[in-house]
Amino acid sequence: MIVVQKFGGTSLKGSERLREVAKWVVKNKNEGNRMIVIVSAPGGMTDSLINEAKEVNTNPKGRELDMLLSVGEQISAALLAMGIKELGEKAVSFNASQLQLKTDGEHNNAKILNISPEKILENLNNDYIVIVTGFQGVDNEGNITTLGRGGSDTSAVAIGAAVNANKVEIYTDVDGVYTSDPRIIKNAKKIKNISFDEMIEMADKGSKVLHCRSVELASKYEIPIHLRSAFTWEEGTWIKKEKTMENSVVRGISNINNLANLKVNFKNMDELVERLEENHINVKSLQQLENSKFSILIEKEEALRFYKVLKKDGYSLEINDNLGMISVIGLGIGSNNIPIKLTKILNLNDISIDSITSNQTSVSYVISQNKLNNANAIFHRELFE
Ligand code: ADP
Ligand code: ASP
Ligand code: MG
Repeated sequence: MIVVQKFGGTSLKGSERLREVAKWVVKNKNEGNRMIVIVSAPGGMTDSLINEAKEVNTNPKGRELDMLLSVGEQISAALLAMGIKELGEKAVSFNASQLQLKTDGEHNNAKILNISPEKILENLNNDYIVIVTGFQGVDNEGNITTLGRGGSDTSAVAIGAAVNANKVEIYTDVDGVYTSDPRIIKNAKKIKNISFDEMIEMADKGSKVLHCRSVELASKYEIPIHLRSAFTWEEGTWIKKEKTMENSVVRGISNINNLANLKVNFKNMDELVERLEENHINVKSLQQLENSKFSILIEKEEALRFYKVLKKDGYSLEINDNLGMISVIGLGIGSNNIPIKLTKILNLNDISIDSITSNQTSVSYVISQNKLNNANAIFHRELFE
């Protein structure tokens, strides 16, 4: 059986943790499995590299940022290989360049195009435990790219698909997917099974427990993901194709922090799109208010940057940079009375709503950033407790 195991940053931070992970991987190998291990950078390293970059450049991005950030994963890969060798097993680490893990050229947010599995399979056949740096790839010119924050989950699923793995296990610092972030909601409940569609929506709406594209890929290739703890090693949550067995409609709550809304006049949509593209702005949602007035929801840091550019160019605009989004997720939620119930709950609790959007699998409210945790707690009490 080919098993892919991915370990996140907290699970690999420090030599004690690295030794624990090495032991676990070797144990799994000794049970008769062929092991591929995908690693993230040690916990906190990617953030601190970004902060270092900001000390020398106001807006670090592109190729050089990828050169810098890819270092973290390489440290984990080499150290884990050494830890495994110490236990008497054969191990070899590879970075994306050595494996020719091909992505497009969109630095800082690249998409995987192709993984040739030969080198990995050859090493597995020679009895090696193969360790691969997550989060990184190479473009057609050989430049190092990265897949966006949290992207090593996606590396794991993509490699799992390329080698036709029997299992993809994602190990992290919580023991499963919960009804809401268990660090914020103490009464959050562990979910045993969740469908791909629901998990995609949870991730897309801000649950950072899994990188959204990893679940999209798992869904495309029908590879179940087992998300579990690298601390207790207990059974976690299965993300898989089937509709969930539990029969409640609502599955979970997700949040996106630090959003901003810009209201600005453009001649037309084309002008707006052009300005967004040239400034590399990712839009969360967009509404045309009147003829030439647009309301754009963007991550706060990007919004402030965009605001400055537009102000300098003489546009008249308003900004509200104290917003967040809370979403409730569940299959079919958009077509029952839950959105109405949730709207009433926010009104009753004096939480004013900036905007509402919904689809088949979620309903989302943009509200004040400082009310986000409160809304989360209230929704959780109403829906799950
Ligand atoms: P890793 O470094 O292992 O990839 P992450 O920090 O990316 O770990 O993801 C794990 C974190 O996701 C948890 O520590 C938890 O705070 C957060 N999280 C957010 N939403 C949820 C949720 N619904 N269920 C479980 N964890 C969640
Ligand atoms: N190290 C990268 C990050 O912190 C990738 C990952 O953890 O998945 O975003
Ligand atoms: Mg992660």
